[in-house]
Amino acid sequence: MSDCIFCRIVAGQIPATKVFEDEDVVAFRDIHPQAALHVLIIPKKHIATLFDVVPEEDQAVLGKMLALAPRIASENGSADGFRTIINTGRLGGQEVYHLHIHVVGGQAMPAMLK
Ligand code: C5P
Repeated sequence: MSDCIFCRIVAGQIPATKVFEDEDVVAFRDIHPQAALHVLIIPKKHIATLFDVVPEEDQAVLGKMLALAPRIASENGSADGFRTIINTGRLGGQEVYHLHIHVVGGQAMPAMLK
């Protein structure tokens, strides 16, 4: 069994509240939401961080993840706007080393990120 918690969510081995899934990506509600809407969009493929992206191989799934964000927002109560965040590595404050886009909204966002 993978020791990556998001790979385990992809595999259905631990529960998550999914709001979207296809053959390449999963979007699910963050377990510790920082805003009225807080969804994480992840690739099904294990990519640890943005540093680990292989351009030719991974750019399609990255594009799909980003293009999915406005749909997630508008279908989940944040049609007036939202914020996307990708934390990368230790200095970026990344806690889970499986690439993810935070989609936060449903309320006005403060000027600073967190
Ligand atoms: O970007 P960063 O790695 O810091 O964020 C990880 C996010 O994953 C956190 O917001 C945390 O609440 C979320 N998480 C989750 N479900 C888990 C483990 C972490 O939604 N099982």
